Amino acid sequence: MKLQLLPGTFDENGMASPRQHLSCFVVDDSVAIDAGSLAMAASAVQKKQIRDVVLTHAHLDHIAGLPLFIDDLFAVLDVPVCVHALPEVIETLERDIFNWEIYPRFSELENANGAVMKYQSFEVGEEFSVKHLRLKAVLVNHKVSTVGFVVSDGQTKFALSGDTAEIDEFWKVLNAEENLSALLVECAFPNELEELARVSHHLTPKTLQKELEKFNRKECSIYVVNIKPMYRDEVVRQIGELKIKNLQILEVGQIYEW
Ligand SMILES: [Zn+2]
Repeated sequence: MKLQLLPGTFDENGMASPRQHLSCFVVDDSVAIDAGSLAMAASAVQKKQIRDVVLTHAHLDHIAGLPLFIDDLFAVLDVPVCVHALPEVIETLERDIFNWEIYPRFSELENANGAVMKYQSFEVGEEFSVKHLRLKAVLVNHKVSTVGFVVSDGQTKFALSGDTAEIDEFWKVLNAEENLSALLVECAFPNELEELARVSHHLTPKTLQKELEKFNRKECSIYVVNIKPMYRDEVVRQIGELKIKNLQILEVGQIYEW
């Protein structure tokens, strides 16, 4: 299985920056999990192949590229882009984004081939198929309804926490999974901003360390994602100081294969 965190921002030379403003993970060049930078950074192959977008939650950094992605492809789509999300996330998108004020309601529009966008809801705890993948939605602890996922292609499996603070259920589910190759876990703020992390329901290196004590799969590769770009250097340093085996930063743009 191939995974890439798409770049979402540029450095001063106009090149893709390692800082992560937006969240968009592309699996096997064909399924997007979150759509923060989907329109801005997807390759030509990914733009041609991605017709399924699975959302962890409706925060802007996870959906910003979705309206633009459908807009870009509007004339050429021969199947609708299917947005897989919790019912409350779909409700938020229709009310606050695709509402004709912020952007067109694509779920009501058609091109010459038919519909350009549709929704497929899933429930917390549900397992569902998206193309060649099986996903299990696991409730996590964020300011709004948010899930993490266990993603399997039948041979390899990885898990993604989504945006979250302290969690128990997620670790119980992961500890029961067999053959988990990788875990992508969030760590948004440095230790000094513990209070901000608490009110916004995110982790710091210190709270991440406590969370990882609940994770039994010590052989699994663990990658940190969702570091707030302003605090990246500090968070990366503090993660390094944890000296946890198998724990590293997921590099933006890099292709990982498990
Ligand atoms: Zn969020």
